[in-house]
Amino acid sequence: TPLSHIRNFSIVAHIDHGKSTLADRLIQSTGGLELRDMKEQVLDSMDIERERGITIKAQTVRLHYTAKNGETYVLNLIDTPGHVDFAYEVSRSLSACEGALLVVDAAQGVEAQTLANVYLALDNDLEIVPVLNKIDLPAAEPDKVKEQIEEVIGLDASEAVMISAKSGLGIEDVLEAIVHRLPPPKEGDRAAPLKAMLVDSWYDSYLGVVVLVRVIDGELKKGQVIRMMGTDAKYPVDRVGVFTPKMVQVDALGPGELGFITASIKEVADTRVGDTITEDKRRTTTMLPGFKPAQPVVFCGLFPVDAADFDDLRAAMGRLRLNDASFSFEMESSAALGFGFRCGFLGLLHLELDLIATAPSVVYKIHLTDGSIQELHNPADMPDVVKIDHIEEPWIKATILTPDEYLGNILTLCQERRGIQVDLSYVGKRALVAYELPLNEAIFDFYDRLKSISKGYASFDYQMTEYREGDLVKMGILVNAEPVDALSMLVHRNQAERRGRAMCEKLKELIPNHLFKIPIQAAIGGKVIARETISALRKDVTAKCYGGDASRKRKLLDKQKEGKKRMRQFGKVDIPQEAFIAALKMD
Ligand code: GDP
Ligand code: MG
Repeated sequence: TPLSHIRNFSIVAHIDHGKSTLADRLIQSTGGLELRDMKEQVLDSMDIERERGITIKAQTVRLHYTAKNGETYVLNLIDTPGHVDFAYEVSRSLSACEGALLVVDAAQGVEAQTLANVYLALDNDLEIVPVLNKIDLPAAEPDKVKEQIEEVIGLDASEAVMISAKSGLGIEDVLEAIVHRLPPPKEGDRAAPLKAMLVDSWYDSYLGVVVLVRVIDGELKKGQVIRMMGTDAKYPVDRVGVFTPKMVQVDALGPGELGFITASIKEVADTRVGDTITEDKRRTTTMLPGFKPAQPVVFCGLFPVDAADFDDLRAAMGRLRLNDASFSFEMESSAALGFGFRCGFLGLLHLELDLIATAPSVVYKIHLTDGSIQELHNPADMPDVVKIDHIEEPWIKATILTPDEYLGNILTLCQERRGIQVDLSYVGKRALVAYELPLNEAIFDFYDRLKSISKGYASFDYQMTEYREGDLVKMGILVNAEPVDALSMLVHRNQAERRGRAMCEKLKELIPNHLFKIPIQAAIGGKVIARETISALRKDVTAKCYGGDASRKRKLLDKQKEGKKRMRQFGKVDIPQEAFIAALKMD
């Protein structure tokens, strides 16, 4: 196919605005798959996505469309992850495209993720066609939403395509818009050394690691030995193909084309999104811009509830690692929780696991007085304070879109979390707020709180920005004069007392009475900043009921608790495991 007849595009949308439904429609109406196939092939591969309601792995499809002008075009639809944690991946997927469809729910209007994704698309110089979906809904207000798109994003929405992805209305207009309003790929040089971008990768149990590539220059062929320039690894290519969306092998992929390769790559961790792929014996001289190695920014300890499940947990960690280049883990043992793992994640999403047992912690940069910098993944490993010059912590920029009536509460929440307001404007009746926040203050329950104080109406998106110096101190917790490592955390000095007090109060509620008095203390260095005492058990005391709220994490806990309840002994004190988790919820 000549380049003039190729279109590489993505669909960007806020979650639930209809991206997947539109993608399925496009596949179906171009005859990519029979309806029956579609159910099995496309949807089944998205099981996890369905479960979580988000797109996890990018999927890509090559469609053949015969336009009204009689010409046949190859349309490569590159799917992007839909979750806020994947801004970098989204940005790389978009950079493999020339254009994007901006799908906005005509009843909901522009949301936080719509904005974040459309800015990523504009950063990548993409041509954008606005598409108003769900116009079948009685609540649809296409004219108002068009105005929003113009006002907030600054895109001309006068020729927005109006569709119902659900009923199929307007799908042909979308296809025509792709062909006529999005540009073809730039001419590459087929004779030049291979230069291709690694757009995505995932683990397939039959094929091993599958790599999605976009060729810029040269040719990618079976039998070639390729080199990944960012990771400096080389592999022989054993398959080259395209997704129709079934995987079909082809002889070669040339400039402007998109497809997959397999190359006996063992782990997804060996492939980095955004990396440049070249031929080993004939290398291109320059890497593609924007490559960033995946680096976990949040760490937490995971421990099995039952020590006998340790091996199962280890196997599960191994499987996660196979499939997620940003996930890392190493063994950890804790006096409180036994043997487990310290795991690194990309952001907030992955922390929704059943196993969380210690406070998630961001990666701090500890600048030591000798000039060296230590990355701290676990507050328990904090060096002696006298050796520390200063500490830096990661910050994010959060974008929140909320109905006006919840604005006050949201500002208070951001303010409490050490937020710095950078923008406040209006999108129709909704407020658009931008805040800079320390990631540390957002990893745990920020999103849950935001949803609950806005009755679910606020939408949220964030991006990592930079490391900044902060007045951070390690707060330790002592139960009956014994330090409990799993509960220690880094906190901002101004927050230490409040957090310490809250922690002591909560532990007092959660640790059952014993036959003796138990002091609970929060301390910075040797200095106690908060203290509670659990009184000694009296005969007439009925069974202490463990307090706490009925939040979702709590429910997970109850599930874990079924069967056996695990107590950890500290000196002479038994601490129920749920006390650890409940105590770490910060409100
Ligand atoms: P995604 O999160 O952007 O991928 O959104 P989905 O494609 O999963 O759609 C979210 C929900 O909106 C699903 O329940 C769809 O059935 C529904 N939906 C999608 N398109 C339309 C539409 O045109 N009209 C109506 N009424 N519902 C739609
Ligand atoms: Mg979807």
